[in-house]
Amino acid sequence: MKILIATHNKKKKAELERILLPLGIEIVTDTDLGIELTDVEETGTTFEENSLLKAQSGCDESGLPCIADDSGLAVDYLDGAPGVYSARYSGEHGNDEKNIDKLLKELEGVPNEKRTARFVCCATCVFPDGRKIQVRGECEGIIAFERHGNGGFGYDPVFMVGERSFGEFTSEEKDKISHRGNALRKLADALEKEI
Ligand code: IMP
Repeated sequence: MKILIATHNKKKKAELERILLPLGIEIVTDTDLGIELTDVEETGTTFEENSLLKAQSGCDESGLPCIADDSGLAVDYLDGAPGVYSARYSGEHGNDEKNIDKLLKELEGVPNEKRTARFVCCATCVFPDGRKIQVRGECEGIIAFERHGNGGFGYDPVFMVGERSFGEFTSEEKDKISHRGNALRKLADALEKEI
């Protein structure tokens, strides 16, 4: 079975392939199909809404089942911000350095015990016949006072799980406990039952 993934992020495609290939599911991108998916505006206010918007659009445009995910960081002290705005928290889309600077500034003077946060990932698969699967994965952590390590991406250098930040984890270590790893494993279980 062929499933389209609505992303150009090669790491996301590879991670999904590692999990779904053993189930006999082939993951393709729009480029593999020789088409170009519309870049859907993330107008939703939840990860669920945004991942559904992207998966529905990809399915409509390709005629194939389509998987899309939406993820971000929710900080308790900031009432869940940056949330669905994680990528553009500083105002500039995808500027990881500025986003981290803004987050650390918002949390200036906030003690360790109040710096609790979680990464959230919602993954949705929409089928051409209208069936939908939606799953959510989370990973709990604490926002550090400064950056640690330079691996990963996004907020990884300031997201502490135990003694280390995600920026100090190997990709394999991160996959095992991350929001995305958790969501994709749940998605694989649900897909196995569905197909
Ligand atoms: P996306 O929906 O996967 O593109 O993620 C949106 C934004 O959330 C990213 O630009 C990052 O700022 C943040 N984010 C999501 N997942 C992670 C992660 O695993 N580590 C660090 N930041 C993340």
